Amino acid sequence: MPRNQNTASQRAREARRGAGTKYTLAFRTAASAAAGGSGGGRSKSFFMRELLAECSASSPWTGVHPALSAELVPNMYDSAFLGGPVPNTAVLTLGDMVSALGLSAALTLESRRGFFTANVACEGHRFQLSLDDDNAVVELCRHPACGNRPVAADYIPYCAPGHLAERAPDELTEMAFDWGAYRRTDPVRDAEDITPGHEGVLLVRTAVAQGAFASVADELVTGCFEFPDMVDQLYSGEKAQAVRDAMQREHRRLTEVAELAAAKIRKEAGGLCVCGAALLPNLEVPARFCSIRCATARQVRRSPR
Ligand SMILES: [Zn+2]
Ligand SMILES: [Zn+2]
Repeated sequence: MPRNQNTASQRAREARRGAGTKYTLAFRTAASAAAGGSGGGRSKSFFMRELLAECSASSPWTGVHPALSAELVPNMYDSAFLGGPVPNTAVLTLGDMVSALGLSAALTLESRRGFFTANVACEGHRFQLSLDDDNAVVELCRHPACGNRPVAADYIPYCAPGHLAERAPDELTEMAFDWGAYRRTDPVRDAEDITPGHEGVLLVRTAVAQGAFASVADELVTGCFEFPDMVDQLYSGEKAQAVRDAMQREHRRLTEVAELAAAKIRKEAGGLCVCGAALLPNLEVPARFCSIRCATARQVRRSPR
């Protein structure tokens, strides 16, 4: 807006904007307290249907957004469930994202950072709503209180290397198959051109630390292509050979990835296990340990939550 167009509404907006800074801290504190910022009294859950009903029944919020100038503030309403004002579209987007879980999906407000973000847990999933954006909701790593994005929300739902590294070998193996099967649905690639992608590589690197390379790589390649004994039933002639070659190619590539990852771990550990024994190249053994027995004794294999 031109500077000389000093309308009443602009003056009011500028006054509010000027006051914004001093309000910021107060708003953050108040919203954080409303959300139980330090963790107290906020574990109450509510249903998606209740949140959507609140969103559709509430009147527009007309307060001062401390982080945005007035013309940029999205349509918001004051949500009792979400600890303060939230953009209507963020709530509707969240509803879309969890629609597969149904209107009876139970939600919990995990945390709220003033007028910036609200983290919501829903049936094992976690989402972050932007409170200074019109329509931004992202899925977060499933580990409670983690603010990172997952490797792939629907298939590898933890951040890497962080919380993915804490998952049990069986769970990594399951993720590997699911991720590979998803890669296989790529409509623009021929069957023999499928690859596990960067996400598959992250799974393999994580598996190395747990001595789970063999099962993770097998499931990843099977997911991407086919069970080895099914290739000839699904494909014939040159195509079947091309798929078999591709499976071998990916196995070799993933083995190289794993060997490099294991060598890096051994180097970081100075070549020695915590028990003092030498670390040897063996992808069957968790890379930081001299043997499966030594790793098990030190609980490297963690249980699923
Ligand atoms: Zn995480
Ligand atoms: Zn050892």
